[in-house]
Amino acid sequence: MPSASRPVPRNALRSRRLALARRAWGLLHVDSTQARVLAQQAAQQAHKHGDAPAAAWAALTLGYHLLYFATPEVSIPALQAVQGQFDALDDRAGHILAAAGVARGLWRSGRFREALAQVLTLRDEGLKVLRHDQRGVLLNTIAGCYSAAGDSERAFAYMYEALREVRPISGRGFDTVIHCNLAHELQQLGDHDEALRHIDQGLERCGALANPRMHSALLINRVISLTELGRAPEALIDIERILAVPTDDDGRGMLTPHFETLALSAYRADARALGDDLLSRALGATRQDIPDEHVELALAQALQASLRGQETDALHHLRRVEALVDRDAVEGLSPRVRSSVYAMLADLHERRGQPAEALAAMRRWQRVQAERGSLASRARYQAATLQTELLRMKHQVENHDARQRATERARAELQAANEALSRKIDEVQALQGRLSDLAVRDALTGLFNRRHLNDTLPALLAQARRERQPLAVALIDLDHFKAVNDSHGHAMGDALLAAFGRLLQGGCRAADVPCRYGGEEFCLLLPGADAATAQRRVQALLEQWRQQSFAAEPAAPRDESGLHGLSFSAGVADSLRVPGSAERLLQAADQELLGAKRLGRARVLVHAPEVLRAF
Ligand code: GH3
Ligand code: MG
Ligand code: MG
Repeated sequence: MPSASRPVPRNALRSRRLALARRAWGLLHVDSTQARVLAQQAAQQAHKHGDAPAAAWAALTLGYHLLYFATPEVSIPALQAVQGQFDALDDRAGHILAAAGVARGLWRSGRFREALAQVLTLRDEGLKVLRHDQRGVLLNTIAGCYSAAGDSERAFAYMYEALREVRPISGRGFDTVIHCNLAHELQQLGDHDEALRHIDQGLERCGALANPRMHSALLINRVISLTELGRAPEALIDIERILAVPTDDDGRGMLTPHFETLALSAYRADARALGDDLLSRALGATRQDIPDEHVELALAQALQASLRGQETDALHHLRRVEALVDRDAVEGLSPRVRSSVYAMLADLHERRGQPAEALAAMRRWQRVQAERGSLASRARYQAATLQTELLRMKHQVENHDARQRATERARAELQAANEALSRKIDEVQALQGRLSDLAVRDALTGLFNRRHLNDTLPALLAQARRERQPLAVALIDLDHFKAVNDSHGHAMGDALLAAFGRLLQGGCRAADVPCRYGGEEFCLLLPGADAATAQRRVQALLEQWRQQSFAAEPAAPRDESGLHGLSFSAGVADSLRVPGSAERLLQAADQELLGAKRLGRARVLVHAPEVLRAF
């Protein structure tokens, strides 16, 4: 959302309009109504802002929409104007697509040669500058022109080529157009089973699209193939569906509903009333000068007359078009329709007892059938080649997928290995931690051991001196401990040592280092504390230790009463008052401890230099 303070740059707006127009173009076969609505919006905005590229793409989309939903008289000039718009922008891709549209309009109005000439001049450049689906549009137009000009072989080649371009593009819906046209071409060659296959594929794709015009075109083709296969009754439901589609822009538009073709099918299904209705609609419709439609109308009239037992009239209707059908290579006249005329002629002559004429018609029918047969086998060959190629592409995709899956599997295995490794590393680190703990901890009390004290004290002392902070050391010796062992047993002695370990640990701060110095002697390092502070804290510990009492061990040798009123003696010294090494500090503390013992135990003495003491 653009804010008032930050205007959107001009180019960004322009590209948004162009994007809208391009989106409309992409929706042309997916949702024809939506395509038209978006193209109209894009055209309006483009006009307002003088955005020529967006205007051209919107006009191209609307021009193609007219091509599908209006008459060639309307769509051709519209698309010619679009050609001019793209020329002014020097946009060759747009120009070629507009020209392909014009060509399509020309062949819809029966000007096949003109259409083919125009579109062939653009072929090579178009294949270079257009993208896949757009190439499909161009190739399909060329195919349509060849088809109308009676060159089935080339028509097939271009249609298969177009299908190849369009296949991988999902969601653009243009493949339905090609399936429809391929079906139409296969019908010319009499390969109605294959035609039905394409029709059903197209109809299946149509299920996901909103393109009623394409849907109708496919249904008309299904009616033709079912009828030719002698299954006209099955086609009646499709006829009903076609008639139910509205004829406006949201329906089948101006798409000629081929009433004459539908009428023929209805008559063959013996639905005479429906046939009569369709025939009268066909007669009432305004039509382009398309030979196929002209001849099929005569065929439908002949069939109506024949069903009414009016064989002379029937023959008369066929005679009107016989000369046209007899001429070789009439543009816009399909082998399917020609062969139908000869088949009906042979049938009528036979019924009228005219064997010579019937035989002549049969021979002509045979000739057309032979042409269709040879073309059909070539078309089948092309189709098989395409199938092989599509299969190969499918295999490539599958191989690619398989490789990707293998890579993903390998990646997953690697990840699992990494996770296992990092778990192992954690375990090893924890183990190392435990091992180093074992190396620095005393097993009975959980306190640091003497080795750790020896390692730590010099470093702490150096740090304290650097930071001009005191470091206090307290040496603690449990009083009369030997007596505990003697009267309560060694196990009780151990329990007491462990309990004292917990007491010491509990009374420590984070920076303090409580150690078991050896036997029943302990050492507490107090960084940041001077001797007086340390004395206070150790004194507090002594008070707590005095409060503790221990129940007698069941297996106690002598004294069965519990233990209470325990005490310890301690000596404290700090680094400010005892300069020099760690040993000297420890010695000073030890000296005080000794003094405490001498004075009767259960006390904490502080080391003070002689000067201070004197003072
Ligand atoms: P004082 O008040 O003079 O310190 O008397 P004391 O009995 O505590 O001192 P002394 O050095 O005579 O005895 C220390 C005793 O501590 C001797 C020893 O058996 C005991 N001891 C040393 N280490 C352990 C130990 O790990 N477990 C047990 N149960 N006793 C220990
Ligand atoms: Mg001792
Ligand atoms: Mg002792």
